[in-house]
Amino acid sequence: MENKSIIVIGAGISGLAAVYYMKKQLPQARVTLLEASDRIGGKIKTVHRDGFVIECGPEGYMARKPTLTNLIKDIGLGDHLVHSGTGTYYIYVNHRLRKMPEGSVMGIPTRMLPMVTTGLISPLGKLRAALDLLIPRVYHDQDLSLKEFFERRLGSELITNMIEPLLSGIYNGSLSDMSLEATLPQFAAIEKKHRSLILGMKSIQPPKQAGASKKAEGRFLSLSCGLDVLTEKLASYADEIRLKTPVEHVEPGKVTLDDGTFLKADSIILATSPKQLGPLLDFPEAWNLSNDKRTTTATVAFAFKKDEVESLDGTGYVVSRKEGLHITACSFMNYKWPYTAPENYTLIRTYVGTAEDAAVVEESDEEIEKKALTDLRKVGKVGTPLFSVITRQIDNMPQYTVNHNQRVQAFEQALGKIRGVYACGAMFHGVGLPDCVDNAMHVAEEAADEMKESEKAATNL
Ligand SMILES: Cc1cc2nc3c(=O)[nH]c(=O)nc-3n(C[C@H](O)[C@H](O)[C@H](O)COP(=O)(O)OP(=O)(O)OC[C@H]3O[C@@H](n4cnc5c(N)ncnc54)[C@H](O)[C@@H]3O)c2cc1C
Repeated sequence: MENKSIIVIGAGISGLAAVYYMKKQLPQARVTLLEASDRIGGKIKTVHRDGFVIECGPEGYMARKPTLTNLIKDIGLGDHLVHSGTGTYYIYVNHRLRKMPEGSVMGIPTRMLPMVTTGLISPLGKLRAALDLLIPRVYHDQDLSLKEFFERRLGSELITNMIEPLLSGIYNGSLSDMSLEATLPQFAAIEKKHRSLILGMKSIQPPKQAGASKKAEGRFLSLSCGLDVLTEKLASYADEIRLKTPVEHVEPGKVTLDDGTFLKADSIILATSPKQLGPLLDFPEAWNLSNDKRTTTATVAFAFKKDEVESLDGTGYVVSRKEGLHITACSFMNYKWPYTAPENYTLIRTYVGTAEDAAVVEESDEEIEKKALTDLRKVGKVGTPLFSVITRQIDNMPQYTVNHNQRVQAFEQALGKIRGVYACGAMFHGVGLPDCVDNAMHVAEEAADEMKESEKAATNL
């Protein structure tokens, strides 16, 4: 494999993981990483300033998905792994913060008493949600939107006041577009098995252990040194990295750059943003995926002196869309991740912009900062920040709209016919960091296997 070459396009977590797994499979092959921007990391970006560790993109990942944790340990960063702190989470609705009822999972109740007593839902809304116990199945192996699925099962009030703020905090999309099968297939499976979501969710909750410590570990993991250390380390596995090198076209064995020059490779792995897929590959199934909806969002992180901020008995809140605020969620970052702010300081991160309120993200830094601060002050007492860090993702967040899985399958079938060209990334099988790493690992294994086979075939000739 010494004279074999591989090109990976895109230096986000997907491309970086692909580099790592290719080198693991084929240490002798030469791996070149091409990145359009002037930095590696893609959506992962960490700002280290005045003792603050500010994650501008992902802040951590779901601990129950092991691939990324294994990768982190393999590359020697395991000592930096930290679990998130736990704490109450709130929803800002009807002009006040209300606790998420205990036992609710993604807004779906699994315990009756907290649901009966919560002020988040009116008595009528609770009765409507309880109908879930009686009504027949809604999902019949035919994809539908999250809005349709949850509305028919649980009613619109639970959606507006609990499910939508939580899910749009995670996915930044509109529930009426988002695919049940691609985004939350576990709920389709639960309904299939138990019919009622409430009963099904209840049956899969781990039993509360008597005498269990109240300060349990959070469900998220991150790196106390900052996620940029992970991306830097992964990048070090590439034999060559070319920044500011946008790729314009890909065909078997050949990558054309935007200056008209081209590079040759035995294997090419695309790990770009969703909108690039069509232009780069130029076949209908690729265009179908890259023409799908994308959304726009920004994060605004504020550094405060501790006494400038009213403390919160919890780790943050999401905002119901009917409140009409620009911020959709707010995390007290150092309550979750103590290393993110020095002692006596507070780091707050807000999310700004939704599918319906994208224009705000394109406003000036001053304007976004002003709007986010105004909203924060509607919810709690907040003084003057020491500084803020604004990060935009314009038209760059993939949305899994209804029938996404079918489009991905069609794409993968079509791509399978193009020899030596592969694709991975957040636009296919999950947007979470572990999903991206999983996808990159499988694609790299497939690419490496094919290279090994063609090498074997060549030597047998
Ligand atoms: C604000 C925010 C918070 C998030 N929070 C979490 C979280 O807490 N946990 C979690 O698990 N996930 C989270 N996510 C999701 C996760 O961060 C992303 O899904 C993941 O980082 C995407 O990685 P990727 O490598 O597939 O794509 P990207 O990171 O978008 O990387 C694609 C790369 O390709 C490059 N590129 C594009 N076109 C070309 C071209 N033509 N030629 C060369 N290079 C090109 C781009 O410049 C970019 O560097 C969050 C995302 C955001 C934006």
